[in-house]
Amino acid sequence: MSAYQFIDHSYDVVVVGAGGAGLRATFGLAHSGLSVACLTKVFPTRSHTVAAQGGISAALGNMGEDDWRWHMYDTVKGSDWLGDQDAIEFMCKEAPGAVIELEHYGVPFSRTDDGRIYQRPFGGMTTHYGKGTAQRTCAAADRTGHAMLHTLYQQALRHEAQFFIEYFAVDLIMENGECRGVVAINMADGTLHRFLGHQTILATGGYGRAYFSCTSAHTCTGDGGGMVLRAGLPMQDMEFVQFHPTGIYGAGCLITEGVRGEGGILRNSQGERFMERYAPNAKDLASRDVVSRSMTMEIREGRGVGPHKDHIYLHLEHLGAEVIHERLPGIAETAKIFAGVDVTKQPIPVLPTVHYNMGGIPANYHGEVVTLKNGNPDSVVPGLMAVGEAACVSVHGANRLGSNSLLDLVVFGREAARHAAEIVKPNTRHRPLPKDAGDLALSRIDKFRNAKGSLKTADIRLNMQRTMQNHAAVFRTSESLIEGVQKMQEVFKSFDEVNVSDRGMVWNTDLIETLELDNLRSQAVATIVSAENRKESRGAHAHEDYPERDDVNWMKHTLSWVDPQGKVSLDYRPVHLNTLTNDVEVVPPKARVY
Ligand SMILES: Cc1cc2nc3c(=O)[nH]c(=O)nc-3n(C[C@H](O)[C@H](O)[C@H](O)COP(=O)(O)OP(=O)(O)OC[C@H]3O[C@@H](n4cnc5c(N)ncnc54)[C@H](O)[C@@H]3O)c2cc1C
Repeated sequence: MSAYQFIDHSYDVVVVGAGGAGLRATFGLAHSGLSVACLTKVFPTRSHTVAAQGGISAALGNMGEDDWRWHMYDTVKGSDWLGDQDAIEFMCKEAPGAVIELEHYGVPFSRTDDGRIYQRPFGGMTTHYGKGTAQRTCAAADRTGHAMLHTLYQQALRHEAQFFIEYFAVDLIMENGECRGVVAINMADGTLHRFLGHQTILATGGYGRAYFSCTSAHTCTGDGGGMVLRAGLPMQDMEFVQFHPTGIYGAGCLITEGVRGEGGILRNSQGERFMERYAPNAKDLASRDVVSRSMTMEIREGRGVGPHKDHIYLHLEHLGAEVIHERLPGIAETAKIFAGVDVTKQPIPVLPTVHYNMGGIPANYHGEVVTLKNGNPDSVVPGLMAVGEAACVSVHGANRLGSNSLLDLVVFGREAARHAAEIVKPNTRHRPLPKDAGDLALSRIDKFRNAKGSLKTADIRLNMQRTMQNHAAVFRTSESLIEGVQKMQEVFKSFDEVNVSDRGMVWNTDLIETLELDNLRSQAVATIVSAENRKESRGAHAHEDYPERDDVNWMKHTLSWVDPQGKVSLDYRPVHLNTLTNDVEVVPPKARVY
C-alpha cells in the first residue's frame, strides 16, 4: 500500500458524526477539558437531525400533569418489552434536565401563553400508566431538529471543539480487540488521515437508505455499523425497522406525527376514521407500528384512496389555517411542494414509509459498545463507543415512540462525554500504532477505486433497496422472508462486480457512494436474516405466520455478525428486565393494546 500515505492526528477522543448525538458528545468532551476531533461527511448542520420535525419528549408537565415514570412506562410498552429497562429509566429520568439544558443553550422552543416550553401530544405518550393522554413532546413549531442542531453546533464552536468537515470515515483501527481510532479520507483533496483516540465515539446515524422509500436523508447509510461489522463485532436487533405511518405518497417525505398530535386524522376511501376500530383509546395517536399496520390492512381490504386504492388520506383542514400556520408551517410547505396539496383545504396522501432503525451497534447506557464474549453478554469493547441512531442501547426496543430519538441523542451524547471524561485523562500519550494500522481501509479504497466490474453502484443499490422494500416490509411472512434472504445474498455477492468509473482521489463521489453501499449491504443482509430468524411478532416486526408475541422464546436481543462473503451468524443477549435504582419499579410484560 506504499502508494498511499497517511497524515496522523492524536486526540484524547475522536467523534465520528456531527448530528445531534455527535455534537452533544463533542462539546461535552471539549467542556470537560479533553481534546476532541469531530469528523463529519457533511457540514454539521446538514446532518439528518436537521430534518426532525415533531419534537423531543420530556415529562416537564408544562401543559398538564406528568411524571417521568409514566414516560418510562410508555417507552417500555412502546418497545414491546424489548427495551432495556435500566437504560429507559435513565433516559426518561434525565429527560427534563436535558431539555431545560437545551433551552438554556438557546433552542428557540415554541411557548405557552405564560412563557413555558410548548408541549404537544404524541403517539403512545400517556399519563397514569396508559389512562390519559400526555402532552409531553417539546416542540419548536415543526422544525425542532433544525432548532436543536443549530444550537448544538453553536455550543460546539463556543467550546472550541476541532471539526474535520467533509471527512469520510472509512474503517476503525483495531488492535487485539481494542479500538485505537479511525481512518478517514478528506473528500476535498483526497488525502488520507489516521485519527488516534483513547475512545472513538460512533455517532453516524441510521441506515434508512437500505430501503427504497424512506424519510431519511441520502446520507443515512449506516457507515458506523458497516465499520463495526468489518471489525468483527456484531449489530443488534436489526430486524426492527420503523415504518412511519405518514410519509407523503410517492415522495416519501415525512409528515410529522405532530400533525396528529395537533388533531389531524386518518381516513380511508369511505371517509371513515378507521383508527377508532384498531385502537379505540389512542385512535390516531396509537404508536407507529400499530398505525402503520392498520393503514396497510385498510389498503389490503380495498379501502385505500386514489386511483389505485393504494394509500390513505391525512386530514388537517379542520384544524383551521391559524393553527396550521402557527404550529405546522413546515408541513404546509412540504405538502404543497411534494404532494401539490393546500392542507387548509385538502387532505395529504400518505403511506407508511421507512423512518428509523431501532437496531444498531449494541451499547450500554454509558455509550460503551458491548459484545457477547466468553459467555458475557455485556462485555465492553475497549476504546469504542456509540450514540444516537447508530447505537442500540436499547431504549427503543422493538418500536420507538415518536420524539424519543431526539431525547436519546442528547441524553446519551451527554452521558458518553461524561463517561469518557471519567475514563480518559487529558493528554494521555498514545502507544505507537501497529504496523498494519489502516491497511483494511486502504485495501478497500484501493480496490473500489480500481473496480472494473460490470455493475454500476447505483444499480446494485437499487436492487438492494427494492429487495428490502418488498421482502422486509410492514408485514412479513416466512415465504417472503426466505426469498428475501436469498435475494439479498445475491445482491451482496453482486457487489464483487461493482464498477467505479472515477479513478481519482479528489471529490470522488463515485468512490464515496460505493463505500456507503458497502456499509448498507452488510446491514441490509443482517436485517433480513435477523427478521427471517425471529419467529414471533413484536413491535415493528409483524410476522403473519407467527402473529403473537412470544416472551418465553423471544424476549431477547438478536446479535448479528456478517462475514466478508455476506454470511450472517446470529446469537442473543438477554433483555435487561431490571431498573437502575429503587425510584421506579420494573414494568412487567403484558399485552400491548392502545
Ligand atoms: C424526517 C425525519 C424527521 C424526524 N423527526 C423526529 C422528531 O420529531 N423527533 C424525534 O425524536 N426523532 C425524529 N426523527 C429521528 C431522529 O431525527 C434521528 O434518529 C436522529 O436525528 C439521528 O441523529 P444522529 O445524531 O444519530 O445522526 P444524524 O443526524 O443522521 O447524523 C449523522 C452524522 O454522522 C456523520 N457521518 C455518517 N457517516 C459518516 C462517515 N462515514 N464519516 C464521517 N461522518 C459520517 C454525518 O455527516 C452526520 O453528521 C426524525 C427522522 C427523520 C428522518
